[in-house]
Amino acid sequence: MRICLDAGHGGKDLGVSVNGVYEKDITLKICKYARFIAKKNGFECFMTREKDESLVNIDRALYANRNNCDIFVSIHCNSFVNELARGTETWSYPCSDEGEKLSHHIQGELIKSTSLFNRGCKKARFSVLNKTEMPAVLTEVAFLSNPQEAKLLVSSDFLWEVASSIVRGCCNYFKTEFKEIVSSEFLGEEERNLVLEFQKFLNSQCIYDESGYPLREDGILGQRTLSVLQKFEKILLKE
Ligand SMILES: [Zn+2]
Repeated sequence: MRICLDAGHGGKDLGVSVNGVYEKDITLKICKYARFIAKKNGFECFMTREKDESLVNIDRALYANRNNCDIFVSIHCNSFVNELARGTETWSYPCSDEGEKLSHHIQGELIKSTSLFNRGCKKARFSVLNKTEMPAVLTEVAFLSNPQEAKLLVSSDFLWEVASSIVRGCCNYFKTEFKEIVSSEFLGEEERNLVLEFQKFLNSQCIYDESGYPLREDGILGQRTLSVLQKFEKILLKE
């Protein structure tokens, strides 16, 4: 099964912005978590964006069509002038029975795990729902304009819970079993990638170990990598 994950907004389009917290960053984080969890659950994953970039809404839909995705899930955060507005809602396209079915699965799992106020499943002709050729939903996870919910939206644990619920909803929709994934697995992978980037960088700069050997590019922060990093630090500080 192929899922297209769509992180709302990006680049110059910040989405909702409250006290320096941007919707575009929250949506991307949820999508990256969801991709990790979904892959571990046997899904093939596509993301309309993987970094902070501007995208036209129609291109998001066309990307999913081009990759023959089976479902499309767009992630957003809500806002309203009244900061008391709260809760979760999930949208699908009018007349799309499958889209509606998917929205109920995702909305249901989100409410179950986050216990946020249930605003229900709704219908709208959003362009990402209109131009996609597969069941498509748009989830407004919570209100960034609500101080209590904004606090949740900056918590990695909460976003992991949200991502898990979204994937659980997708599994329910396809009638497949959901396997719980712990967040430390993802963070471990993120850290390894960072170490790997450093190892590649140090080798590319010919900054080698005591014996003049390049580092093994394995993403493991061992003694050799640490000592070369210290050498690099000294070069930076011109000691
Ligand atoms: Zn949005």
